[in-house]
Amino acid sequence: MRIVLLGPPGSGKGTQAIRLAEHLAIPQLSTGDILRCAVAAETSIGKKVKTAMERGELVPDELVVAVVAERILQADAKTGFILDGFPRTVGQARALDDMLRTRGLDLDCVLELKVDEEVLLGRILNRAKEAVGNGQSARTDDTEEALKVRLKEYRRQTEPLIDYYCARGMLKSIDGLQPIASVATSLLEALDA
Ligand code: ADP
Repeated sequence: MRIVLLGPPGSGKGTQAIRLAEHLAIPQLSTGDILRCAVAAETSIGKKVKTAMERGELVPDELVVAVVAERILQADAKTGFILDGFPRTVGQARALDDMLRTRGLDLDCVLELKVDEEVLLGRILNRAKEAVGNGQSARTDDTEEALKVRLKEYRRQTEPLIDYYCARGMLKSIDGLQPIASVATSLLEALDA
């Protein structure tokens, strides 16, 4: 199965993508995680994206598209994948369509996690606090200032994808305010429907 998980920052995409990936035995491909690894490893891509990521801005389409194009060709993604954090712009969605079409493939489903904006800041600041509590460092973009930018980017660039996929009959929306286990169940039900 080839699935896209859509939702604003802090909506629980990562948490749910990991669970779903385990359940369906397909990999979770998180562009955020891949880019954070590139930044930590100081690769040439990492150096290019570091500042934008810290500010909460999106990184250029061509860069993320290249990362995803390479990743979905790997052996573990042959039977399917869950894309978490990609596509985030209409340009990226078109590029993904092209990538799949040239291989005679298509997406099976786009799952949207719907969460009120007011709860997002609380969740993000809590995640930062928990990371520090666990002796890890918080994500550099888990601050109130960067979240404002991330939300603005989401509204302006990513939200149009909801109509894009809805028009193609692919979109299923789930209430992301439920407890984690209930969201997971709802996602599986949406996939079965
Ligand atoms: P979240 O969804 O919680 O905001 P992610 O971990 O998915 O966080 O992404 C973190 C950052 O990585 C984004 O703010 C952006 O800078 C960069 N990024 C990740 N995926 C993409 C993408 N598809 N297009 C552009 N930038 C991206």
